[in-house]
Amino acid sequence: MNRRNIQIHNDESLIVYRKQGGRRDPLEEIIETVANPKTAVILRPEYLRTDYIPNELPHRDQQIRALGRSLAPCLRLTKPSNIFVYGKTGTGKTAVCRYVFGRFSREMLEKGSQVRFAYVNCRIAGTEYRILAEICAAAGVSVPFTGLSKGEVFNRLVDGISKMGMCLVVGLDEIDVLVKTYGDNLLYELTRGFAGESWVSIVGISNDLMFKERLDPRVLSSLSEEELVFPPYTASELADILRERVVLAMRPGSVGDDVVGLCAALAAAEHGDARRALDLLRVSAELAERNGSAKVGEQHVRQAQITIERGRVQEVLSSLPLHSRLVILSVMSVSRSGDGYTSSGSLYARYRELCGRIGLEPLTDRRVSTLVSELDMLGIVSCDLVSFGRHGRTRKTRLTIDPAEVKAIFGKDELLSSLLE
Ligand code: ADP
Ligand code: MG
Repeated sequence: MNRRNIQIHNDESLIVYRKQGGRRDPLEEIIETVANPKTAVILRPEYLRTDYIPNELPHRDQQIRALGRSLAPCLRLTKPSNIFVYGKTGTGKTAVCRYVFGRFSREMLEKGSQVRFAYVNCRIAGTEYRILAEICAAAGVSVPFTGLSKGEVFNRLVDGISKMGMCLVVGLDEIDVLVKTYGDNLLYELTRGFAGESWVSIVGISNDLMFKERLDPRVLSSLSEEELVFPPYTASELADILRERVVLAMRPGSVGDDVVGLCAALAAAEHGDARRALDLLRVSAELAERNGSAKVGEQHVRQAQITIERGRVQEVLSSLPLHSRLVILSVMSVSRSGDGYTSSGSLYARYRELCGRIGLEPLTDRRVSTLVSELDMLGIVSCDLVSFGRHGRTRKTRLTIDPAEVKAIFGKDELLSSLLE
């Protein structure tokens, strides 16, 4: 073999290398699949990302108008009511709020108005400090990254906007995360009223109604002066949403209406979740590409459903606190002997036993019952109330996921692995 061909890896040498029947280039197929639009299914992945906000939001006109109507006083510099937006995951709350904020914000900027819009995702921002800092940034009030106390940042915000006579519409997305971690102090401060011409209106967004119980009644009534509920999408609405993304992101002819329909139907059965529908579409297309198939088939969607569900379960299981994990192990261990169901009594007895085995103080019966309800909501267990006539009722619980997945994840936990015989 010519020495030069081995040492110099320019295109020419590679071609020679291949022609000579040498080792196959292990990357050739990957590079070709991406470069060759004949087999690539996803041509523009950016349109499938969850943070992409389409120019049009089909089947959300009503919600866009309702939010627009509620916020409209700000166009005349009058303070709008605070609004609470509620709906399950993937019902378009974030997309609609950002859409309305974006449109109103452009309108106000053109008019040189003093109204500003701040959108903050409380979960992503993480701390009260970061949330305040993001609101300050939107208002053009400068604060350092760190170093100040929370109270100081708040004072600078108040001073800054009153000096400029500025008005703020603040969207607090995933507001439940803020309240669960820090309580309602910040909300209390923000809804308390401001000096002079300035005002701050809050649009609070959440998929969890339970957090309201943690709010002081005054904060609650002020935060939900108006409420806007987002219903789940139906299968045909999801199909319309998907069709638009197919046109934007996929190679023409690679995704048929059967595939769109199946993704929409599966996501509608979940709870009308547009995020799940889009995930299904994206993952099916990725699977088809990986299999070298130029067209997405129903089998890819089925496979995608399994992959996504497994990922979700793993994520939930990995993030559960210790006592919830023990509750799951108790359900697993009692139901192995019997009809698969566990009564509340035997569940609690087994839970106490497991706590004893690892030297842990058990929680009360009532607290464990709350943990079971939370696991039910997360889709890890399922509960049924069973009546025994005049002997009352008991709650029967069973595991809805594969015990092998539980073992795989809890097995990594030193404390729990001893309980996984
Ligand atoms: P939520 O905030 O209620 O959980 P999102 O607004 O984040 O839901 O929506 C989930 C995903 O579905 C996002 O990628 C979003 O762009 C998309 N989506 C939601 N509703 C629509 C719609 N009506 N038209 C197009 N895409 C939508
Ligand atoms: Mg959201």
